[in-house]
Amino acid sequence: MNIALIAHDRMKDEMVNFVVAYEQVFKEHDLFATGTTGQRIMESTKLSVFRYMSGPYGGDQQIGAMVAKNEMDLIIFLRDPLMAQPHEPDISALLRLCDVQGIPCATNVATAEILTKALERGDFAWREVVHKYKSESGEK
Ligand code: PGA
Repeated sequence: MNIALIAHDRMKDEMVNFVVAYEQVFKEHDLFATGTTGQRIMESTKLSVFRYMSGPYGGDQQIGAMVAKNEMDLIIFLRDPLMAQPHEPDISALLRLCDVQGIPCATNVATAEILTKALERGDFAWREVVHKYKSESGEK
């Protein structure tokens, strides 16, 4: 599965702790992240993470492009609920695209934990059907 990990600055420690706790689950999947979040995760784990640009410089939009193409299977996006972000429109756009495509998206660690346990159980197997359809139909 393709999994996106994004955390705003004051949420990065929480993201790192979370990914460390579930490293054995995440190592089975392809990980994508915004620049600094990905760097922090790679510094603290043995995981390999494909890093897009930093969020405020377009990273959320790059991940959004994957969501728009229905290529992302799970988003863990630890937003800072108490601090306004300069790239608020990009954040809203990414979350909107998750709703357009029906992609599971956690915006706090409690939901992230439930979805990660579901991922571990194999509850995301239905997404394989989407990937298979996309590759067979040649849809871009
Ligand atoms: P960052 O981007 O991981 O590069 O800090 C996250 C964000 O602020 O959207």
